[in-house]
Amino acid sequence: MKLSVRLQESFNEQINAELASAYLYLSMSAYFEDENLPGFAHWMKMQNEEETAHAMRFFDYVHDRGGRATLQAIAEPPSDFRSPLDAMERTLEHERKVTALINRMYQLAIEETDYAAQVMLHELINEQVEEEKVAEEIVDHLRIIDGDGSGLLILDARLGARTAEEGQEQA
Ligand code: MG
Repeated sequence: MKLSVRLQESFNEQINAELASAYLYLSMSAYFEDENLPGFAHWMKMQNEEETAHAMRFFDYVHDRGGRATLQAIAEPPSDFRSPLDAMERTLEHERKVTALINRMYQLAIEETDYAAQVMLHELINEQVEEEKVAEEIVDHLRIIDGDGSGLLILDARLGARTAEEGQEQA
């Protein structure tokens, strides 16, 4: 069954949103590199790859369903962050926005009675639970650390151990 026009539009918007996420995390990675926190920088690079992979999943799905992916401009991401906590709070806030976008797509898939699209979105809905959980945990740890240098370096070392296969589990 071909994707409806409304769903195709929504999937195309999501390709853009995922690429914008990837761009935001890459910008955060640059910030952490500059702060000499290589673990955080690495973690953000992994986020960048993961978001790019999400965009590709939507891209491929549009074509699998007989549609056409169209690409839009990606907005310039912020490049100034006040602190690691500021960057991680923005990460959490951003992930909550993405969750809302995916939930809206799911609502649309229900309205269009597109069962296949609903099933496709299940995995992404589950992943958002994980994304928010992990970001929230890092925010909480940074609050516990509260500017303590040794605590920050321990967290940096832990985030640096994240691998693509293990994905979020390492954080
Ligand atoms: Mg994503």
